[in-house]
Amino acid sequence: MENNFSLSKDRQKLIERLENEGYIESERVKQAFLNVPREEFIPENKIKEAYADIPLNIGKSQTISAPHIIAVITELLDISKDDKVLEIGTGSGYHLAITAELAKKVYSIEIHRELAKKAKKTLNKIGYKNIEIEVGDGSLGLPENSPYDKIYFTCAAPEIPQNIIDQLSNTGKIVAPIGIGNQQTLYVLKKENGKIDKKPKMGVRFVPLKGEKGF
Ligand code: SAH
Repeated sequence: MENNFSLSKDRQKLIERLENEGYIESERVKQAFLNVPREEFIPENKIKEAYADIPLNIGKSQTISAPHIIAVITELLDISKDDKVLEIGTGSGYHLAITAELAKKVYSIEIHRELAKKAKKTLNKIGYKNIEIEVGDGSLGLPENSPYDKIYFTCAAPEIPQNIIDQLSNTGKIVAPIGIGNQQTLYVLKKENGKIDKKPKMGVRFVPLKGEKGF
C-alpha cells in the first residue's frame, strides 16, 4: 500500500513538472496522465524509475518513450472522445493507454509478438475495453478499419508511407518521427478536404520502424 501511495505521489509530481515545462497543456491530457499507472508497463526492477522523465528498456531492444515526448505527441494529436485512432508500435502499451483515455477507439500494431502479448495482458488487467492490438507490420497500416481520425508512430520511419496517409480521414492528422539515427524530426501532417499540409515540429530520437516501408 505504501508503495502504491508513493508511486501515485510520484505520478502527480511528474505531471506537475510536465505542465510547468509546457509539455502538458490541456486538462484532458493531464487527466489521462493522472489515470494511467506507468509502473504497470515497465519491468519490475525499474519500478523506482516509473515516474522519471526518461525512456526505459522494455525488452527486444525496445523502449517505452519518455513521458514528455508522449505528452507532446498527445497534445499535437488533439484527440477527441469521438476519434478513432491508429497507433503504429504498441511497445509496452503505455502510450496506447494514454490515447485510450482520450479516444473512442484505438487500434495498435506491434511487430514483436511477445511485446504485443505482454501489452495486451497489462491493458486487460487495468481494464481498457476500447483497444485492439494486432501483431504485424504497422508500416502497412490497418486498412480494414480505416479511415482513422488520428494516426501516430512511436518509431521513426524514413518518410510517412503513402498507404498510411490514404488510411487517414479527410480532416485527419498524423504525428510521426521521420529520419534516421539521431537525425529525426517529429512531423505533423494534416489533411483538409484532400489537401495535405506537413510541418516539422522538433528534433526527436525514436527506435527505427522496421518492415516493408521502414528500415
Ligand atoms: N509508445 C511505446 C513505445 C514504443 S517503442 C510505449 O509506450 O511503450 C516502438 C515500438 O515500435 C517497438 O515496440 C517496436 O517493436 C515497434 N515497431 C517497430 N517497427 C514496427 C512496425 N513496422 N510495425 C509495428 N511495430 C513496430
